[in-house]
Amino acid sequence: MAAAQAGTYDAIVVGGGHNGLVAAAYLARSGARTLVLEGRGKTGGAATTEAPWPDAPEFEVTRLSYVMSLLPPTIIKDLELPRHGYKIFPMGPYYQAFPEGGSIKLYADDARRNHEEVSKWSKKDADAMPRWDAWLAGLAEVLGPLLLTVPPNLGSRKPRDLSETLRLAWRHRGLDVRTIADVTRLMTMSIADLLDDWFESPQVKGALAVNGVIGTWAGPFEPGTAYVMAHHSIGDVGDGHLGNWGFQEGGMGAVSSAIESAAREHGAEVRLNARVAKVIVENDRARGVVLDNGDELRASVIVSTVHPRIAFLDQIGREHLPPDFVTDIEHWKTRSGVVKINLALSELPDFTADPGSQLQEHHTGSVEMAPTMEYMERAFQDAREGRPAARPFSDGVIPTAFDKTLSPEGTHIMSLFTQWVPQDWSEQPHTAELEAYTDRMIDCYNELAPNFKASILHRDIVGPYEMEQEYGLVGGNIFHGELSLEQLFHMRPAPGYADYRTPLRGLYYGSSATHAGGGVCGIPGWQAARAAIADQKAAKRSGSVRRLTRRS
Ligand SMILES: Cc1cc2nc3c(=O)[nH]c(=O)nc-3n(C[C@H](O)[C@H](O)[C@H](O)COP(=O)(O)OP(=O)(O)OC[C@H]3O[C@@H](n4cnc5c(N)ncnc54)[C@H](O)[C@@H]3O)c2cc1C
Repeated sequence: MAAAQAGTYDAIVVGGGHNGLVAAAYLARSGARTLVLEGRGKTGGAATTEAPWPDAPEFEVTRLSYVMSLLPPTIIKDLELPRHGYKIFPMGPYYQAFPEGGSIKLYADDARRNHEEVSKWSKKDADAMPRWDAWLAGLAEVLGPLLLTVPPNLGSRKPRDLSETLRLAWRHRGLDVRTIADVTRLMTMSIADLLDDWFESPQVKGALAVNGVIGTWAGPFEPGTAYVMAHHSIGDVGDGHLGNWGFQEGGMGAVSSAIESAAREHGAEVRLNARVAKVIVENDRARGVVLDNGDELRASVIVSTVHPRIAFLDQIGREHLPPDFVTDIEHWKTRSGVVKINLALSELPDFTADPGSQLQEHHTGSVEMAPTMEYMERAFQDAREGRPAARPFSDGVIPTAFDKTLSPEGTHIMSLFTQWVPQDWSEQPHTAELEAYTDRMIDCYNELAPNFKASILHRDIVGPYEMEQEYGLVGGNIFHGELSLEQLFHMRPAPGYADYRTPLRGLYYGSSATHAGGGVCGIPGWQAARAAIADQKAAKRSGSVRRLTRRS
């Protein structure tokens, strides 16, 4: 791809979230003159570090996403991210203190300690744990590589699509009847039913169910939540450890900054406060974009990484798209009822079950409010019935247990990823109700750690409305679209277009609403850039621009 006149680029990336930055880095690395257009005054999207309290700028929080897991080693290596500041502290154990007394810790890779911990609640469950871990590891071997696979266009009879489908089937020819049955169970069961098959203790089941409901508009008794658990359990922060999660030094914004720095080093230009209003379409081909200030920028490749409703319905328009594709995007499910609460603390929580506010192991991992599956289900049912949860669920973390860059010496940041509020709260701010919800959330932790409430110096609440208005997360869904079965793999974001291409030539799509998203994994951005680069090369070889419309 060659350089050209001002206002004209080889590639324009719409959205400077981490996926847009990954796409830009790969495009620029391939030699393309690349421009990233980010609507906010800051890159990173949902992977952002911000100082939300003007009167206390010394505190920084990872305002939305909070832990790393799925960024593949290939991306880390290709973009040399550690050299650009990517540095992960592996998380400590999962921790839950119980209202009835006692606690449980679960470790990512310490079977002996897990046995001790689970034995406190059920000897039978402790004995089942190694088999459960092995079962999950077996499934991760099947599902993990799929995350890096471009989904085939299932159902298409075009020779290229058929051969890709056959190649996928061939790769999995070694799967036996049991493995296929296990994958089927994972894909179709609720996390509650699955755990009931394996364990008896409510405390242990509560601990293992958390990953099944993260960011999901579904309680643990809903079919499909078993897969969500697996999606969050097959991660790898680059050190090869299955399901290991970690904190980025400097918060999640530092992940985005590292990717941005790599992209810039390869020559990409990043423009902030550059909101794209429209994609220019000429002869069924994307030719450029118009910003909301009227500026026009042109490129032969456009990679969009914004929410699919914004990318297709707002920025392109129904008239340029096939009607069934438009219907699929209109029907895209994008709810979640998540409220992110960020706290500045004067001291660490002093749990009655594990006393002391000095730093201890149980402060270093996830500090949960998910004592049982029934507790979580009640929180979801409240929201489904149209009320915010009376006793919300929370996946809490205290990154400052490791990361001293986020808050002054002796103080801490605590991030609470909480659920659920009604799905339509993305339509109105609900400010007073969110304050009351946050009070209740804090009360729940205070019952377990009586110093908690008094230790709070500042609080920052991000509800679904702000997620949509400020960050472009339509409906408040944290992944640009639910990880429900009908929205996975070849269906993400729409059947016929799961290969990071779109109905328009020259337009590629690489947001979390594509296969392998969501989460801060960079795979969608990487795949969209690869598709664009491959098509450009093929077009050059054939001396023409190939038509890339995929649906047959
Ligand atoms: C509360 C919360 C907690 C989460 N926790 C985790 C976690 O712990 N771990 C994890 O792996 N994942 C987590 N996630 C999910 C993860 O953060 C997202 O899936 C991921 O960051 C999305 O990246 P993206 O680049 O696809 O999109 P985004 O990050 O949404 O980036 C899209 C970018 O496009 C910009 N944009 C929108 N409209 C326009 C326009 N018209 N013109 C120009 N730019 C535009 C936006 O400002 C944004 O910067 C969480 C998400 C949320 C919201």
